Amino acid sequence: MILPVSAAAVAAVAPPGPPSPPRASFAGTAPHLRFRGGVAKLIRDKVIPRLEEWEAAEALPGEFFRWCGAGGLLGTTIPAALGGRGLDFSYAVAQVEEFMSARATGPAVSLMVQSNGVCPLLARHGTPELCGELLGPLISGEAVGSLGATEPSGGSALSHTLRCTAERQGDEWVITGEKAYITNAPIADTVLLLARTVPGTGPLTMSLIAVPSDAPGFEVVAQHRKLGLGASPTGHLRLDRCRVPVRFTVGRQGHGYPHLLPVLCQERLLVAAGSVACARSVLEVTAAGLRGGARDAARPELARMHARLEAARAFVYAAGEQVCAGETDPAAAAAAKFALCEMAQRVAAECARIVGPRSALTGSGLDRVLRETRVLSVFAGTSETMRDVYGSRLATLMQQLPPEEAEC
Ligand SMILES: Cc1cc2nc3c(=O)[nH]c(=O)nc-3n(C[C@H](O)[C@H](O)[C@H](O)COP(=O)(O)OP(=O)(O)OC[C@H]3O[C@@H](n4cnc5c(N)ncnc54)[C@H](O)[C@@H]3O)c2cc1C
Repeated sequence: MILPVSAAAVAAVAPPGPPSPPRASFAGTAPHLRFRGGVAKLIRDKVIPRLEEWEAAEALPGEFFRWCGAGGLLGTTIPAALGGRGLDFSYAVAQVEEFMSARATGPAVSLMVQSNGVCPLLARHGTPELCGELLGPLISGEAVGSLGATEPSGGSALSHTLRCTAERQGDEWVITGEKAYITNAPIADTVLLLARTVPGTGPLTMSLIAVPSDAPGFEVVAQHRKLGLGASPTGHLRLDRCRVPVRFTVGRQGHGYPHLLPVLCQERLLVAAGSVACARSVLEVTAAGLRGGARDAARPELARMHARLEAARAFVYAAGEQVCAGETDPAAAAAAKFALCEMAQRVAAECARIVGPRSALTGSGLDRVLRETRVLSVFAGTSETMRDVYGSRLATLMQQLPPEEAEC
């Protein structure tokens, strides 16, 4: 189980300055620890014994979602009135940290898409009728959900590149287009799809539509084989004049993109928190496996990486606290996503170097982490685009500086 941030460790790397408010409570209070214990048990009992089999088969069975549903992991932040647990974002962070510190990253990603993407979007923006119909099975794990935004033409600048269209004909949407790299698509019962419903480009031209996978014209044309995250099936969808009732629109017509953005930002923070958890556990396993001179030689490097991970965790927790307070900062989420995913990649590579040739063997454990941390730098926004988002914030800040300070 992940332990709360050690204030001493964070203080050791934090620059001197005025005392900051305590952050150790985020995701680390007694109720969090109880919650983490439940998640860790489910992972230990149900996931770990089957993980290698799922990874090899590049499959995630329906029973995984039902176990998560029975454990309350699919509706963690959904209001209790809608069938969820009504917990705040810190519990979503704790959940993903538990999965990724156990290196169950594929299942974590599939779970995250449903629990922190599809369900919150439906709960926040779906009509009571639609929630009544779709949300219950997604929270119980009887149904699997997907979020379909990316297309073969691109996923980074969706407001300009999105080609999938939904044209209204009477009480139905007629949807035509393709979606690529969609988590859970091969096994989904419902895909929350972003389609252009207003001619032209720009952020207010797209709507979110819940598309049942048995709708006429809906087809999974391929499952992608991936470098990592085998136990998180990813697929390519084709919609050929796919007909869906207009009442399946989630949120305001034309507002799908602004509805999606906060959820995407939260997903980025979750991936960042999970990457740190994964890297910490790899580092700790590496340290525990070293003996004698090898251990002494590696100690300074392990200490440096561990301290950086502690600081990184404090950073992502601070951004998470903002989410709990009702504000999601896209620049902070972008910074956390690229910086922490890349930090996890570097830690995994450095641990592999310290462990030596054993780390290169298939099944060493490190081989999968090396591959998965690479894939996480693409999922939910590439490092390059995240740097672009954060860079725009920096540029704005720099413009606000008085000229003499800007020259420093
Ligand atoms: C395992 C996995 C699961 C995924 N699951 C989902 C899912 O469930 N739902 C979903 O909708 N999508 C999903 N995706 C897609 C993912 O979100 C996109 O791959 C990602 O957003 C980038 O889009 P793209 O691949 O189309 O790249 P593009 O947008 O086509 O970009 C191509 C390249 O150009 C670079 N680039 C683009 N813009 C800039 C810029 N401004 N500055 C610098 N470089 C730039 C990118 O970094 C990238 O290297 C998943 C991807 C993976 C790998």
